[in-house]
Amino acid sequence: MSANSLPDSATVWHSLEVDKALELLSSNADTGISPQEVEQRLQKYGPNELEETSGRSAWEILVDQFKNIMLLMLIAVALISGGIDLLDWREKLQAGEMPFKDTIAILAIVILNGILGYVQESRAEKALAALKKLSSPNVRVMRSGRLEEVAAKELVPGDVMLLEAGVQVAADGRLLEESNLQIRESALTGEAEAVNKRAKMALPEETSLGDRINLVFQGTEVVQGRGKVLVTNTGMKTELGKIAALLQSVENEPTPLQQRMTQLGNVLVSGSLVLVALVIIAGVIQARGFSNLKDLVEVSLSMAVAVVPEGLPAVITVTLALGTQRMVRQNALIRKLPAVETLGSVTTICSDKTGTLTQNKMVVQSVYTNVSTSQNVNNVHQSQQSTNNQSLSVTGTGYAPSGDFELQGNKIEPQESPELQAILVACALCNDSELQQQQGEWRILGDPTEGALVTVAAKGGIEKDQWNSKLPRVGEFPFSSERKRMSVICKVEQVQTGVSPLSSVDPVISNLVKSESYLMFSKGSPELILARCTRIYVGSGSISLSDEQRKQILAQNDQMAGNGLRVLGFAYKPLTELPPEGSDEIYEQDMVWLGLVAMLDAPRPEVRAAVQECREAGIRPVMITGDHQLTARAIATDLGIAQAGDRVLVGQELQRMSDQELEQNVDLVSIYARVAPEHKLRIVQALQRRGRFVAMTGDGVNDAPALKQADIGIAMGITGTDVSKEASDMVLLDDNFATIVTATKEGRVVYTNIRRFIKYILGSNIGEVITIAAAPILGLGGVPLTPLQILWMNLVTDGLPALALAVEPPEPDVMKRPPFSPRESIFARGLGSYMIRIGIIFAIISIILMVWAYNHVKVVTGAGLDPQRWQTMVFTTLCLAQMGHAIAIRSNTRLTIEMNPFSNPFVLGAVVLTTILQLMLVYVPPLRAFFGTHFLSLQELGICFGFSALMFVWIELEKLFLRLMGKKSV
Ligand code: ATP
Repeated sequence: MSANSLPDSATVWHSLEVDKALELLSSNADTGISPQEVEQRLQKYGPNELEETSGRSAWEILVDQFKNIMLLMLIAVALISGGIDLLDWREKLQAGEMPFKDTIAILAIVILNGILGYVQESRAEKALAALKKLSSPNVRVMRSGRLEEVAAKELVPGDVMLLEAGVQVAADGRLLEESNLQIRESALTGEAEAVNKRAKMALPEETSLGDRINLVFQGTEVVQGRGKVLVTNTGMKTELGKIAALLQSVENEPTPLQQRMTQLGNVLVSGSLVLVALVIIAGVIQARGFSNLKDLVEVSLSMAVAVVPEGLPAVITVTLALGTQRMVRQNALIRKLPAVETLGSVTTICSDKTGTLTQNKMVVQSVYTNVSTSQNVNNVHQSQQSTNNQSLSVTGTGYAPSGDFELQGNKIEPQESPELQAILVACALCNDSELQQQQGEWRILGDPTEGALVTVAAKGGIEKDQWNSKLPRVGEFPFSSERKRMSVICKVEQVQTGVSPLSSVDPVISNLVKSESYLMFSKGSPELILARCTRIYVGSGSISLSDEQRKQILAQNDQMAGNGLRVLGFAYKPLTELPPEGSDEIYEQDMVWLGLVAMLDAPRPEVRAAVQECREAGIRPVMITGDHQLTARAIATDLGIAQAGDRVLVGQELQRMSDQELEQNVDLVSIYARVAPEHKLRIVQALQRRGRFVAMTGDGVNDAPALKQADIGIAMGITGTDVSKEASDMVLLDDNFATIVTATKEGRVVYTNIRRFIKYILGSNIGEVITIAAAPILGLGGVPLTPLQILWMNLVTDGLPALALAVEPPEPDVMKRPPFSPRESIFARGLGSYMIRIGIIFAIISIILMVWAYNHVKVVTGAGLDPQRWQTMVFTTLCLAQMGHAIAIRSNTRLTIEMNPFSNPFVLGAVVLTTILQLMLVYVPPLRAFFGTHFLSLQELGICFGFSALMFVWIELEKLFLRLMGKKSV
């Protein structure tokens, strides 16, 4: 069929039988479509993507920029200043001066700020959308009969896609097969309850969306079970695509810091209004009347401009954006912007074990089963009543299916041991992973635990595909972290039809079933599986499982787990009927024990150092795992997460604890074993009640509530389900614990740098305001700084070095000090007092200079020298002092001479560039005219440099003093 004759999106898929739907899309339930066909259909239907629409229109984003109190104040200043100019604009023109200069400049800044904010916000939205796409899911599809994993956007109608728990459905489709499939469709219907889906029925055409149980929809979440789906609609043709309003816009919440900045704005604006009022009152009292009112108004306007840190919002946005980029380069993908700065506050990291602390490259090391082989080296007589449980070691590396089974150094042929063969068959069949050879390398598609089992089965000559056709799967009780086990039900065809005697089919099968038609294989946590067994397999049949044998098996399990191995228990059960869905509790009982399989999942080598770094940084790592307590303890001790003898809290104990009891223990326990996802939520809440700032990892569907509750929810990029990623603040692209620690360090660097340039910018603002206010109070005639000059200082001479400070590399002790408490104000730890102290020093330096220059410079007028140049000296000194401040503030503790000036070349560059620009304002005539500055003699310039250097000297002396006092400034 050519792509053109394919049905359109109006087809009523839910009213069609499966075969009809497949026929319409010329697809095949087993093989899917061919890659060539996919190409053609991609041309016709386009990629499977939703056009992202933002919640706000461009216009709304722009208007929002002006809803900022500081910008509103600037607009007011511009208007008042314009009003004053209106009084004498003719005179100004005649004198060759430009009227309305300040008004135009301020309004230009306001508009520029608005546009900048607008561009940044739209950019941030786009960047986040792009990041979101980066973490967009892959989909498992059948193409030309081969199972493949493709990007969701490459799906086309006719594709056969596979669904499993945790997956977010990537396109609309008609169900072909399903097993226990439950889908949460709240994204589409608003209904929180998950819907049971059924493939085998056609529904009336008028069935409403929420009742179309034979269809699945894009954007919904698979909560449980699995399914095979024929993709019918993709991209904007899906139900979700049609309802554009329901599209989730990219989350772009203001960060706590941005919120604090808004509060800061309010404080600054109201503070400056109070100050303006005080200055006017003082001026009026001093002059005993309103004679100098114009001067006072001008001073007030300047003060109002000086108090607003115009450059700050831009610098903060840039810093956060750079932080996100640095983090993604280190494999930490930030999904919610606040995480960048709040990461620095993390005090506890709760991490899964498998895959995050360990490599998730499983290799089966040993199989513990009854060995009744003729080669049995111990030659133990095997009676019907006794068993000869032995631990066989398995050789070979990685997922390559080559290796041997050895018993005390002697090779065992699996064909000669029915018990070993039986457990290997269970490994192969009770399994959803596939082993594939790609470019000569063996890889697995699916869960690594199960991959290791397919490999070990193949080592024993049990090929999964071959056995799947011998014993086709007809039902299952799927795995979940709560159940900690899974079962598959296979059909024993020949027995049912009686076509051939069972023994000629396969001796392995004939040993397992007598006359039953079905065989159930189960695997899972050994204690749990064993508790559900009443018999044990002994080759030709089963015998009842004695207490002695149980003890022996559990002891073996403990020994293996104590060596850090991940152990699974296996069992089977012959069945006469196919169990109905949801009957797991009834059928997973009275099973026959097969044995234990232990696999090694080595710790990630880089984690040990990361754990050590955490400890030094005052961050407590905690392991939360579904695995056995002994396995958990062995690995946690090896990694340094726990000390030998530390307490392990097991899921069952936790279950019995009240919230208060848990809260009392939560700070003492570093290992939680055999926990279920809902326990994770309780652990986070208990930690939070103790005032901890918690980062929590998760990968499964049911981890979503804990990830949402955690202060930083972290999803796994490789093994994580789509649902967990949606709920997270950050995605680990490499699933690695060490990446969390790296991201935390980046978070601290970002936060420290933000604090650094806030100190830098606001300290100078305070200095400017006090200097301006001092002029009329000291009775100096004239305003030391015009609004235009202040804007120049706040944007250029403060802004450029601040941007350079934003990329300051981490200080060596960044991971050696305790985390910042998220509850503490940004002004805590001396930041507020630093700003005020430095602001006052700034003011003292410039006021001394101002008074001196006012009295000396004014009278000594030479050729080309204007009597008002004391103002330019104040302006220049303040700007140059900020240069010294920028250099000195690079470190809180180290003196400048102890630092490499080139470790942040941007600061050096910004200081040189800004100084040149400042000098141009004084020595380039057109700029001088525009900014209202005056020519300074070399000697006067030298005095400015001298005074401004005092700022640098002061800060360095402060650091020295603190060091001598043994105090650390932060
Ligand atoms: P972590 O929580 O650190 O990722 P985990 O993989 O052990 O560790 P879960 O995935 O919740 O945690 O698994 C819990 C337990 O269920 C495992 O320890 C194991 O005993 C059992 N189990 C894991 N995977 C399977 C599976 N595919 N089939 C059957 N049982 C399994």
